[in-house]
Amino acid sequence: MTPPHRPAAATSVARCLLGVDVGGTKTAAGLVSADGALLTSVVRPTPAAQGPAAVLDAIAAAVRELPGHHLAEGLGIGTGGVIDRDSGVVISANDLLPGWAGTRLSEELTARLALPVAADNDANVFALAEQTYGAGAGCRSALYVSVGTGIGGGLVTGGRLLRGAHSTAGEFGHIAVPEATGLGCNCGRTGHLEAVASGPAMTARFRELTGHDDGRGLRQVAALAEKDSGSAGDTARAVLAEGAGALGRALAGLVNTMDPERVVIGGGVASIGDAYWRPLTEAFVAELLPGPSGLRPVPAKLGPRAAVVGAAALVLEDRDAAGRPLPATS
Ligand SMILES: [Zn+2]
Repeated sequence: MTPPHRPAAATSVARCLLGVDVGGTKTAAGLVSADGALLTSVVRPTPAAQGPAAVLDAIAAAVRELPGHHLAEGLGIGTGGVIDRDSGVVISANDLLPGWAGTRLSEELTARLALPVAADNDANVFALAEQTYGAGAGCRSALYVSVGTGIGGGLVTGGRLLRGAHSTAGEFGHIAVPEATGLGCNCGRTGHLEAVASGPAMTARFRELTGHDDGRGLRQVAALAEKDSGSAGDTARAVLAEGAGALGRALAGLVNTMDPERVVIGGGVASIGDAYWRPLTEAFVAELLPGPSGLRPVPAKLGPRAAVVGAAALVLEDRDAAGRPLPATS
């Protein structure tokens, strides 16, 4: 592998990519090889309160810190909100990045860095990372789900990530499920999967049932479910069975309608262990039609690296049929 400080061999450098993950507090930028290795990276604060222009300047500055950045073929950027993949414009965003909606990410960053720039939603970027380099590599169709503070993901059909007519494809958290009836969702509606199956939803449910607001996180709930044979363990098992079960049933419904080759689950909640995976898989399997009945969800492979590596993979999507880079669009 080319060392990060010396990406000088023309043949490999020509295919290097840049990936950036912009969050409300931190921005991570990395130089990525064409086979998905993160060669070098930096993490810097996001000056969110100073507005979009300051955030764009900070992104450009972080990229310029990366040795070999000027040799990259293009830059991909992943961020929260709804992003128009074709134009690279933020359609809508939440309060973590004030004023972010309307920001012309691709155009503004191309102007600052003189590179082709592709932008997309962070859940799509996670899906693209796993599809290109991770647990779904080689699949023509797959369903990717990220479960953390929210629930999002992406759908691959015909080897391509589906964006949908309004850039919201893969928003699995906003499927109405019976387990969430009456519960408020982050989108402002009620009864959605995210309101019962996200990490904060399950933690809040455990606290509600035990009456203890002792700051227990989801990992501690999972540990109780695994090891405690008493009432706290029973409650932990019930809470995980409810949240993971709701997700499993919803995913099985998607599998029955899409019939994908693979289902990949990532995000912080997916790494809490068997106490989560067991009820998820049981609920999933119970709903499957005979055709896909042998399918089981598998864990994502790339972990936190997916954010930068998947953003870089956006650049690969913009190559033409012969594999040549497309020119910058602005
Ligand atoms: Zn919702």
